[in-house]
Amino acid sequence: MKYALVTGASKGIGRATSLRLAEMGYFILINYNSSREDAEKTLELVKEKGSDGELLKFDVSDAAETKSVLDTWTARHKNEYIEVLVNNAGIRKDNLMIWMPEEDWTSVLNVSLNGFFHVTQYMLKNMLVKRFGRIINIVSLSGIKGMKGQANYSAAKGGLIAATKALAAEVGPRNVTVNAVAPGFIQTDMVKDLPEEELKKLIPAGRFGTAEEVASLVGFLASKEASYITGEVISINGGIYT
Ligand code: NAP
Repeated sequence: MKYALVTGASKGIGRATSLRLAEMGYFILINYNSSREDAEKTLELVKEKGSDGELLKFDVSDAAETKSVLDTWTARHKNEYIEVLVNNAGIRKDNLMIWMPEEDWTSVLNVSLNGFFHVTQYMLKNMLVKRFGRIINIVSLSGIKGMKGQANYSAAKGGLIAATKALAAEVGPRNVTVNAVAPGFIQTDMVKDLPEEELKKLIPAGRFGTAEEVASLVGFLASKEASYITGEVISINGGIYT
């Protein structure tokens, strides 16, 4: 059995990625934080793809909870390891910096950036010992360009881009690749409060992307065909210049 862990897999890009990896034959560890019913739906859809999975509930920003849930999984799977990790969990709390409560700064960084650290550090040892691993971090156009109203989110995603490059250099010799996927506007719950009609005028492709389009790129980066790509940030944004 080959295992893949997708954080924030209860909906959106995480769910679509879980389905893509299920099609590639992976058993999917479906992480979620609060949306249990949505996570169960992801599992049902994974099974419809002919694969299987299980739910792993933990808050990626909580180091102790993350370790405890992953310790329990590892104890039940002594001779197996998770070879694909998709760090997808993320939140947005937009505000102009002058009005931004410190809690909104901290929580956005905690989920995207510290969450990456907690989960990835745990997975690394086995990937290095087994000499194979795929780590794919979902970042954002905002982390490349910087977007007004998103100093917290841009900092979290920009930090994650830098960490992707640093870690890729560390683990490359062990056949572990680390890449970042930077979506622009993708139709998911995360952006349902945004004025889509207005924003799509800024996108050369003339539309928001779909979660499945992002998942397809993640699937490629997880595949053996992507063995020589590491430390990269790949934009998927309908042609918005970055
Ligand atoms: P979404 O539909 O809101 O899904 C977010 C997912 O993250 C949910 O499954 C949620 O799980 C999970 N999550 C949030 N906080 C978590 C935590 N502390 N621990 C574990 N899971 C947590 O958003 P999405 O659009 O699919 O976003 C997925 C990723 O893509 C994010 O990193 C986001 O920043 C990035 N992204 C999205 C867009 C876009 O336009 N949609 C653009 C660029 C980048 P629960 O509901 O169970 O808490």
